[in-house]
Amino acid sequence: MTSDFARMLRGASLRVTGPRVAVLRAVHDHPHADTDSIIGAVREDLGVVSHQAVYDVLRALTDAGLVRRIQPAGSVARYEVRVGDNHHHIVCRSCGAISDVDCAVGHTPCLTAADDSGYEIDEAEVIYWGQCPQCAAAASAAPGGDRSHAALGTGRAAQPWIQRSQGQEQSAIRTRQRDSEEDRRV
Ligand SMILES: [Zn+2]
Ligand SMILES: [Zn+2]
Repeated sequence: MTSDFARMLRGASLRVTGPRVAVLRAVHDHPHADTDSIIGAVREDLGVVSHQAVYDVLRALTDAGLVRRIQPAGSVARYEVRVGDNHHHIVCRSCGAISDVDCAVGHTPCLTAADDSGYEIDEAEVIYWGQCPQCAAAASAAPGGDRSHAALGTGRAAQPWIQRSQGQEQSAIRTRQRDSEEDRRV
């Protein structure tokens, strides 16, 4: 495996170094990991490595196209080695889990804009939001059930759907704030 990573580095005209191989391996083994998880995995591999060294390697690998950086709203940056296929992501609103979703149709950019305004489009970045199976199961198992169902149960106006979608929008914003507080604590 190390030789595969070394070959990837050479193929991108990057010098093969221990930290670069360790970061590539960490991103390969932990798809969509954030920087802290990658630092943890690299340290298990190499022992002492500074945050800055890992940041620098991640930037070099991203610039060279060996690693793709994604950052869903409200999330810290995540990294993956699945590059070049323009796949999309589905993100859990509750726990932040991320899964890959293949292109909607065919190759990059895989989505045709209704009106391209004259731009030459080369990428479509799509994020599907929802609840992962674990969070959905936990919500329906919890006493009182899932809050959005409880809200619907009040059955007041004929617009519960509109109110509900606004509520989801707000909960997404709250999640985003919570995440940035966590960032600051780190
Ligand atoms: Zn979840
Ligand atoms: Zn992915």
